[in-house]
Amino acid sequence: MDTQTEPSRNPAKIEILRAWPDASICHGFIGRTGGVSTGAFASMNLSYWVGDDDRAVDENWERLRREVPDLKLVARLNQVHGNVVHAATRDTATLRPAGDGLVTAEPGVMLGIFSADCVPILMVDSKRKIAGALHAGWRGVIADIADAGVRAMTLLGARASDVRAAMGPSIGQCCFEVDAELGDRFGREIEGARNHTSAGRPGKAFIDLRAVVRDQLERAGLAPVNIASVGPCTRCAGDHFFSRRAAGGTTTGLQISFIGFAA
Ligand SMILES: [Zn+2]
Repeated sequence: MDTQTEPSRNPAKIEILRAWPDASICHGFIGRTGGVSTGAFASMNLSYWVGDDDRAVDENWERLRREVPDLKLVARLNQVHGNVVHAATRDTATLRPAGDGLVTAEPGVMLGIFSADCVPILMVDSKRKIAGALHAGWRGVIADIADAGVRAMTLLGARASDVRAAMGPSIGQCCFEVDAELGDRFGREIEGARNHTSAGRPGKAFIDLRAVVRDQLERAGLAPVNIASVGPCTRCAGDHFFSRRAAGGTTTGLQISFIGFAA
C-alpha cells in the first residue's frame, strides 16, 4: 500500500455528484472518498463481491446512508456486461439477478449500479415517477443497453420523450485506448460510432463511450436536451473515482450510482 497517497483517498467527505436539482429524485454518482476500505478498495468501496472486507463495506454503507437516508432498499445486480434489464420491486429488490440494468415504478425501491470505468447511466421520468439505472461498458454499448433500458422504462409507463438521462464518471476518450479492431467494430456495428473513435498508436484506437451512448439514447427517443454527462474521466481522476485502468487492470473497488423515489 502506498501510505503517501492514502490520506488524499481517505478524507472525511463522501463525494456525491448529482445531475438534477429536483429534490424528489433521489440520485447520485458516488466517488471513492470518505470510506474506510483500504488498499485497492480505498476507501468508499460499496461492493461486497470484489474481495473487500465485508465489515469495511458495511461501514461504508452506513456512512453513505447517513448522507442519503432514503437509500434503505437498494436493488443491485450481478453485472455481466450484457443488455438485460430487470424491473425491480420491493419483493424482488434483494434477488441480485444477472443483468446490467434496473428499472422501477415503486417509490422506496432504489436502483444501484456499480462501476469502475464503465458508464453508469441514471434515468428518470419524473412525471410518472419511473426510474432506471444502467451499466454500460463497451460490451453493453455494443449490445445497446441504453435502448433496452429506455424500453424497459416505457413498459412501466414512462414516455421516452419525458425521460431524462445522466451519464456519470467513466473512462473518457482521453484514456479509453483499445485495439483498432474494436474501434472498427464499433464503427461497423453502431450507427454514428465512427464519429466517436479516433486513431491511437499503431494498431490502437480511442473510443468516446459517453458520446456513443448519447447517440443511442437519442435513437431510443430521448431529447438531446434531456441527456446530461456528469463528472470526469475516472482514470484521469483516479484519486476521486475507482478506475480499473488506473489500477492497471487489477482488482479495484467499485463505486455506486443510484436513483429512485423516496417512499
Ligand atoms: Zn482520461
